[in-house]
Amino acid sequence: MKTTPKCSKCQTEMEVGYVLDRGHGNARQPATWVEGEPVRSFWAGTKIAGKEQLQVHTFRCPKCGYLESYAH
Ligand SMILES: [Zn+2]
Repeated sequence: MKTTPKCSKCQTEMEVGYVLDRGHGNARQPATWVEGEPVRSFWAGTKIAGKEQLQVHTFRCPKCGYLESYAH
């Protein structure tokens, strides 16, 4: 990502990062955006096969702590 967004609350330049999720086997992984409503699956927790999935980048304002997420 080339441009760093400015905080919409206080106009400070934000830091890039991501929100950590716990995936299969408690493995650490970045949060993922999945299209549509979550569908519970007996075998896999939440069924995501065939759904569009995007890694979520979350910007954090170092001044006020505001978080802003993007899924490109
Ligand atoms: Zn801010």
